[in-house]
Amino acid sequence: MGARRPMTIRTGGCLCGARAYEIDGDLEGVWVCHCSLCRKASGSIGNAILIVPKDRFRWVKGEDHGVTFALRPTYTITRCKTCGTPLPAEADARNVYVTAGTLDTPLGKGVRTRLFCASRADWDRDEPDVRRFDERSS
Ligand SMILES: [Zn+2]
Ligand SMILES: [Zn+2]
Repeated sequence: MGARRPMTIRTGGCLCGARAYEIDGDLEGVWVCHCSLCRKASGSIGNAILIVPKDRFRWVKGEDHGVTFALRPTYTITRCKTCGTPLPAEADARNVYVTAGTLDTPLGKGVRTRLFCASRADWDRDEPDVRRFDERSS
């Protein structure tokens, strides 16, 4: 039959709401980079990234409300000017590297790729007696 499933549109944005975006269509999954730069830049286990072709990413608001830190020729970070949320991580000629934690809509996929696993922090794992609290935040 000729019925076509409507394309999924996913939304996301920064913590304060000044910057918001939409992504058209499905993605293959999340890339997690554990390199020392991504660990420092995120202050956490590394960067969790969605690689989105530029023609499938658009700003809904706040496109100009970012500040970019060019740490190295090959490594930049862009953050919201108001709240500091890293969004996106980087962009190049073809793709926007969107920080996965800024997504508001379920992705429907998990982590597909982990990079620089040898640089993973030694604490980036669960202890056998890890405590878990199942509440959901808003
Ligand atoms: Zn913000
Ligand atoms: Zn990295």
